[in-house]
Amino acid sequence: MSKTHLGHTARKRFGQNFLHDDYVIEQIVNSINPRNGENLVEIGPGLGALTDPVCERVDALTVVELDRDLAKRLRHHPFHGSKLNIIEQDALTLDFTTVKDNLPNPDQSLRVFGNLPYNISTPLMFHLFDYADSIHDMHFMLQKEVVNRLAAGPGSKNYGRLSVMAQYYCSVTPVLTVPPDAFKPAPKVDSAVVRLVPHASAPVEVESVNTLERVCAQAFNQRRKTIRNSLKDCISEENLSSLDINPGVRAETLSLQNFATIANFIYEHGT
Ligand code: SAM
Repeated sequence: MSKTHLGHTARKRFGQNFLHDDYVIEQIVNSINPRNGENLVEIGPGLGALTDPVCERVDALTVVELDRDLAKRLRHHPFHGSKLNIIEQDALTLDFTTVKDNLPNPDQSLRVFGNLPYNISTPLMFHLFDYADSIHDMHFMLQKEVVNRLAAGPGSKNYGRLSVMAQYYCSVTPVLTVPPDAFKPAPKVDSAVVRLVPHASAPVEVESVNTLERVCAQAFNQRRKTIRNSLKDCISEENLSSLDINPGVRAETLSLQNFATIANFIYEHGT
């Protein structure tokens, strides 16, 4: 598959795989369902595969693009250039609350979407989770394996730190699977679109999100160990039992509520 699409040579370091399948593009835009007056933000507009059809439906769209050449192309876009608010920046370091506050309707939360660069998709989602209060919903194209991990529940081989943290912040709904040949150049793996909707109120009580993240990272770091062993530096076997959590199970069997209970105990007891 050619690495040049619409006169632009895809840059691997920016995770550039451009969508070119009109049917897939239409399905994604339909699932986003953009409407005038919403605070729409696209991450990685690239050559405009999603930008163009979204701009056909609305009068204004904010786009965040790191590649200087692509940002320049968008600025000179013959049809939609005037509708675009172009932020030429790394989305990983962007303050999304400031983005919202600078839009014409700062009281409305953001609707974020994009065919994400796969090399940074997990850190980017963790970055966005920090702004969950400012976000109404997110629609992302990701590697299918990442969507499986986001949506997985206890007992699944895909269940891990990403599942627990994503489901703490958001409800997660896989929307559609996309084959490699929908992109130029074609990635080596299947992709999928996911909808993430931040919860209006947290599904479990967590006193320190940092502690929850730390506990999940430690528990899943050596998945095959029992939690008695993987968490032995921060909570004793007796204390796990006193929380009604069997110390002999593996992390992959624990629910979000179990992780929250362990994290709250550790936070309160200062380990
Ligand atoms: N939306 C286009 C499409 O569907 O064809 C392009 C998608 S391509 C997978 C990812 C896009 O994200 C590219 O345009 C790339 O330059 C841009 N990008 C890569 N890293 C980025 C970052 N850190 N911040 C913002 N944009 C980034």
